[in-house]
Amino acid sequence: MPDLAAAFGLGRAALRHALRWGLDAVLPPQCLTCDMAVQAPGQMCSACFRATEFVTEPCCQQCGTPFSSAQQGGVAKRCDPCTQDSPPWRQGRAALRYDNQARRIILPLKHGDRVEMARALATHMARAGATLLREADVIVPVPLHRWRLLTRRYNQSALLCHELGRIAGRPVVADALVRTRATASLAGKTKRQRAQTVSGAFAVRPTRQARLAGQRVVLVDDVLTTGATATSCTVALLAGGAARVDLLVGARAIFDDILS
Ligand SMILES: [Zn+2]
Ligand SMILES: [Zn+2]
Repeated sequence: MPDLAAAFGLGRAALRHALRWGLDAVLPPQCLTCDMAVQAPGQMCSACFRATEFVTEPCCQQCGTPFSSAQQGGVAKRCDPCTQDSPPWRQGRAALRYDNQARRIILPLKHGDRVEMARALATHMARAGATLLREADVIVPVPLHRWRLLTRRYNQSALLCHELGRIAGRPVVADALVRTRATASLAGKTKRQRAQTVSGAFAVRPTRQARLAGQRVVLVDDVLTTGATATSCTVALLAGGAARVDLLVGARAIFDDILS
């Protein structure tokens, strides 16, 4: 490569960029969730698109669970669990149902280096949460604990926030919330155990309190399962002076799917 760079009078970085551009020009972009060629980066092929369960209205206005009919949620348009044990956030929306196809988007975003997934997923989240984003003063991610940030290198919710901020033209305060302590993994825990695990585990960063005071916040996370983490973050934001909190997630885990 140095010889080639020298031959063309280019720096290494410039040469790498030129080769990369050449490859992108020659190879068609791939579907987000399979190997099929697509028209543009970040798209899905028609088969994967059809297999993706986008959450649309009618759905629960608070947790994004899709309804089978407009009558299902009653006048309040809320599911039974949200009616019986109302979450502290005002409204909530999800882009996708968290099924096997959604996992093919979320898991690489969470554990891999597929950060381009964030841009694609955020596009769908912006559609699902259009009304919430329109009324938002600021967008805030669920934070990762520092040691998890070290092993994962980036916070997937913050990535989604930055893409959403760009699409919706809203400011992002990526470090608004901090974890006050490390929490054990929520995987395999019941709703009650999850709530106990993350209760009080978040707080507004003291230096961000003035920035959030009286603001309408959209809290962003990748997946909503029992809502334990989102609840704890919302309580922290409201205690920290936010006027109200709405929730926007990439995918909604449906209890029938989890329990079956
Ligand atoms: Zn595909
Ligand atoms: Zn609900």
